[in-house]
Amino acid sequence: MIRPLVRRLHAYVPGEQPAIDGLIKLNTNENPYPPSPRVRRAIRRAANGRLRLYPNPTSAALRRKLARLHGCSPANIIVGNVSDELLALATRCFVEPRRTGRARSSSTVQYFQPSYSLYPVLADIHGASKNAVRLGADFALPSVAELKRAERWDFRAALTFVTTPNAPSGRGYSTRRLDALCRRQRGVVVLDEAYVDFADEHAMALALRHPHVLVARTFSKAYSLCFQRVGYFVGHPDLIAALDKVRDSYNVNGLGQIAAEATLDDLAYYRQNFRRIVATRAWLGRELSILGFVVLPSQTNFILARPPVLPASRWLERLRAEKILVRWFDAPGVSDCLRITVGTLREARALVSAARKILRLR
Ligand code: PMP
Repeated sequence: MIRPLVRRLHAYVPGEQPAIDGLIKLNTNENPYPPSPRVRRAIRRAANGRLRLYPNPTSAALRRKLARLHGCSPANIIVGNVSDELLALATRCFVEPRRTGRARSSSTVQYFQPSYSLYPVLADIHGASKNAVRLGADFALPSVAELKRAERWDFRAALTFVTTPNAPSGRGYSTRRLDALCRRQRGVVVLDEAYVDFADEHAMALALRHPHVLVARTFSKAYSLCFQRVGYFVGHPDLIAALDKVRDSYNVNGLGQIAAEATLDDLAYYRQNFRRIVATRAWLGRELSILGFVVLPSQTNFILARPPVLPASRWLERLRAEKILVRWFDAPGVSDCLRITVGTLREARALVSAARKILRLR
């Protein structure tokens, strides 16, 4: 009864959401600070008899606010049940399922490895071909010349996902280099900026300049709203209209729309949190380096670090025994590292103190 494609499928594995209390959660890059009081008030006010009504089908008010924020038109914006939904819609919209025989660019989903581990799953669900191109040891974005030389990159791939800043490496990419790549690319390029609010640069201008480039954003990480599930794409109205045809009619829940709108009315609150997280990131990076971790420079709200003495998978278990959850990926290029979410300074201190205990330094 089940299609062979689905039988073969390896589903995306989300980070653990523990059922027990008292753990320090540094495993899924959630924001350690709560949504602003205005957002919580707006949700409480909206949770009334109107819950029986359908929400706005096109997230119209939210799109107007986002358009003002980014200096574009609401026609440049589609809102999704988080960016994950939109990444899936992009796969369905721009990529032909693969027919038997040789892989073709028109059915290719392309991405760097390591990057967001959902992309290959989306390609598999759609029956598309995958072109995963390994990044170098420093996770830098290769130049167009380097990509040409290596002869692995498909400049005609139907859909290319670039996580920027990259995850799980945390490495930031310059808009100049992203622009050069976009200019050479023939298919659609999605710049997945899930973590961009913690970075020095963003590439929103590229989505408004190039007709084949989309920028993906989410309210989950920087705006403390994972629970509400709101994300969006910015791009050319033709691409946005195509995505709009494929999405569910009421894809974004009403409380999510209201929460996201209220978020945009209180950006100063969130910018203060970004600054705090960036400061904690610097502190945590320094402390872990002192303990012998190799810490990669990060432009996100997490740190990728190669731990000393024990294998990373052992560190995962030992930290869990100390009631601290971090993430370990059994994937090429990162299996000797831990991805550690930057929490509050108190949480970062607890992590450093647990690491010292594991290293028998105290
Ligand atoms: N892109 C990247 C690179 C991510 O790590 C995540 C979160 N795991 C997302 C997009 C999606 O986040 P959300 O679905 O909560 O918007």
